[in-house]
Amino acid sequence: MVKPKRVGIYVRISKDRKGQELGIQRQEKACRELCERLGWSVLKVYPENDTSASTTAKKQRPMYTQMLRDAREGLIDGIVVYSIDRLTRRIAELTSFLEAQKEHGFQFATTEGEDTATANGRMVLTIKGAVAQQETERMSERINSSLRQRREKGKPHAGGPRVFGFEPGSNFQRVVPEEVELIRLGYRMLMDRQTTGDVARAWNAAGSRTVGDTAWSIQKVKRVYRSERIGGIVTYRGDSVGDSIYPHPLTREEWENVQTVLDSRSTPARKGSGKRKHLYSGFLKCGHCGSVMSVQWATIQGRTFRRTFCNSSQVGAVGQLGCGKVNRSYAWIEERLNELVEAALRRRKPTPPAASDEDFSDAINVLEERIRNLRRRWKEGALDDEDYFDSLSHLRSELDSLRASESAAVVRQSRTEKDALAVWQDDDMTNLERRRAIVSSVIREVSVYSVGRGRRKPPELDSIKVTPIGDEPQGPTG
Ligand SMILES: [Zn+2]
Repeated sequence: MVKPKRVGIYVRISKDRKGQELGIQRQEKACRELCERLGWSVLKVYPENDTSASTTAKKQRPMYTQMLRDAREGLIDGIVVYSIDRLTRRIAELTSFLEAQKEHGFQFATTEGEDTATANGRMVLTIKGAVAQQETERMSERINSSLRQRREKGKPHAGGPRVFGFEPGSNFQRVVPEEVELIRLGYRMLMDRQTTGDVARAWNAAGSRTVGDTAWSIQKVKRVYRSERIGGIVTYRGDSVGDSIYPHPLTREEWENVQTVLDSRSTPARKGSGKRKHLYSGFLKCGHCGSVMSVQWATIQGRTFRRTFCNSSQVGAVGQLGCGKVNRSYAWIEERLNELVEAALRRRKPTPPAASDEDFSDAINVLEERIRNLRRRWKEGALDDEDYFDSLSHLRSELDSLRASESAAVVRQSRTEKDALAVWQDDDMTNLERRRAIVSSVIREVSVYSVGRGRRKPPELDSIKVTPIGDEPQGPTG
């Protein structure tokens, strides 16, 4: 699943839980910590000051309205709240929120999670289930009636222009396998941070032509991926009404992934300015001359693959051009190194559970008790106002900092080595930078040697030499 890059955090202060209201800052902090843990990027915060007491009256909540509008328009692609009751207390509103989520595809998380361990989680799941159920029923009704309509007319809906990937005149019921293959290849390239220009070049190199019999351009490739048809999404007057029952080049989820990538690329990164695209680029050194090797996509005889090579047109670490003598397929090397990194992560001992000095609950209870006593004495008239408010604000700020430490400790505990393995195994492209950080905690560098031409036999294991972190150069991997 693609991680949201423009998350909106919704925080709300209300006076309806006596004495227990969570400060807006504390809600925001917890939400930001959650986003960091999930690898989501925060775009903006929607602070609502909603101090009316009633939970039943239809309240005006301008920030909530604006946030939903932003989500509908795609300005934000994820929403994070401290808990469901910060978002809304009214079932009808929650239902329409979840429906909006389904329709517009933004992601949603609460710091309390949505597991069934909490009453909130159970409620959300129940409602999600009900919404899904209703949606399914509605969809099958729509499809049935449209199929019936088509059948009553006695012929399928007449043509329109052919869409790349589908057989002409088949009314989107049959695909062209070679074109599906190209669409899927392009999908993988786009997910691997290649550009639509790279896809156009790959398709042209494979001898493919557009349905109008022209060469592929960036615009024409984009048009293919923008078409809901290739994701099997059936539309009626511009609205999605369900999934095609016939074969289609991409799944709905894959199609949605591509939309996210295309949307985020409206201003393409300059070449060389972006982040690294490959897990091990930068780590691979030419075994012959010691230059840092390049990793690139190549299309040779219609086959597209990654290769790594000593670049003879690029100045290497030693201040001279690479020797150009080493040129290897990248996939094999990546596989070997992946095995090595994963093995190293599994060998690492899990960090011991947090020590008892990280348990703040006693101290928090004591402070809360002192605040209650203080309040009672003031109510009984044993304290004058000035003393009361002085002591109260002092205790409150102490309590706030304890609670902050408590939540920080929870975050620390969740970042054990076990999580490193989980982060490692998530090979989503959006996770690349974190995975590269893990690589750099295991591998210092890898010397890559030349192997013979042809690909009948896999390369020998000692055709690469790995220098692990904190170790002298070592022999074969494996
Ligand atoms: Zn070299």
